[in-house]
Amino acid sequence: MATNATVRGRFAPSPSGRMHLGNLFAALLAWLDVRHLGGELLLRMEDLDPDRCRPEYLSQLADDLIWLGLDWDLGWRPGETAYCQSCRTPFYQAAFKTLASRGLVYPCYCSRKERLAASAPHAADGARIYSGRCRRLSAQEKTALQESGRSPAWRVQVPGEIISFVDEVFGPQQERLDRDCGDFILRRSDGVFAYQLAVSVDDLDMGITRVVRARDLLDSTPRQIWLMETLGGKAPEYAHAPLLVAPDGRKLSKREGDLNMEALRQKYTPEQLTGKLAKLAGLRQTDAPVTAIELAADFSWDKVPRADIPIPPDF
Ligand code: GLU
Ligand code: ZN
Repeated sequence: MATNATVRGRFAPSPSGRMHLGNLFAALLAWLDVRHLGGELLLRMEDLDPDRCRPEYLSQLADDLIWLGLDWDLGWRPGETAYCQSCRTPFYQAAFKTLASRGLVYPCYCSRKERLAASAPHAADGARIYSGRCRRLSAQEKTALQESGRSPAWRVQVPGEIISFVDEVFGPQQERLDRDCGDFILRRSDGVFAYQLAVSVDDLDMGITRVVRARDLLDSTPRQIWLMETLGGKAPEYAHAPLLVAPDGRKLSKREGDLNMEALRQKYTPEQLTGKLAKLAGLRQTDAPVTAIELAADFSWDKVPRADIPIPPDF
C-alpha cells in the first residue's frame, strides 16, 4: 500500500474500562479505513471525565489494540501524557475563550429538573433540546444567580444554520443546529470540558482528516463540524460504523463486561477474532482466521451494512 501523508485517522478510546467487542470492532474499521488509504493513525486517550477514567486502563487499551494487530504511528505512548485529554485543558480553555470572545458562550444555571422543564423532546429520537432559557435571563436574574454561589455550566449559542456532510456509511446528513440540537454544553459546572468541545479541538489540532467511530456518535457530528469551522478549521471526513449489539438487540456496555477483551483474548487468537469481526462487518463471507493487514488490501465501506449487527449468541 502506498503511503498517503494527507490521510490521518485516529483511535479515540475512553479509558473507562476494558474495551468490549463493539469498541474493538470500531477500532478495527478505523484502522482498515486509514491503512487502506495508506494514511497514518493517531492514538488519543479520551480520559476527560475523572469520575469514570482510570490510569491503569490506558496501557491495557493500547495492549489490546496491539494484540489484534492494530498499530498506530503517533499519539499516546506509555508514560506520556501529551495525547491524554486530561492533560490538554489549556487547549480547550483557549478554544472556549475564542468562542466566548465572540459572545457565543453563556452560563447555564439550570438544575437537571429545570433543564428538563426548559427543553423539548427532539422529534426524531426523544433527546431533549435545550430551550436557551439561561440565554434570555434579565440582568437582575443573572446577578442574582451569580451571587447565589451556584457554579454554572457553560453553553454555546448555536445559529439557525444547516450543517450538512456526507457520511461514508450513512450517506448525506443534515441538521439545523438551533432546531434539531439547541445550545449545548461546552464546560460542565464542575469545570470539566465537555466531550463535544474536546473532541473538536483535538481533531483540529491533531490534523485528523478521517474520523471512523460507532454510529451512536453520528448525531454529534454536526455540532463538531460547526465548532471546528467556527474555530477557523476544516472538519475531517466521517464514517460511522454500524453498532454491534447484544443478541437481544441491547446496546453493549463496558460496565456489564459485554464480551470484554479479557474473555475474548482467552478464547480466540487475534486472527480468529479478526476473522469473526470481518464476517460481522460484511468484509468476508466466512469467519476464517485472517489478519488486519490482509483485510486492508480490499477494504471498502460499500461492504459494510448500516443496520445494527447482533452478535451471535455463541460468540
Ligand atoms: N471517546 C469516545 C468513545 O470511546 C469516542 C469519541 C470519538 O470517536 O469521537 O466512545
Ligand atoms: Zn439554563
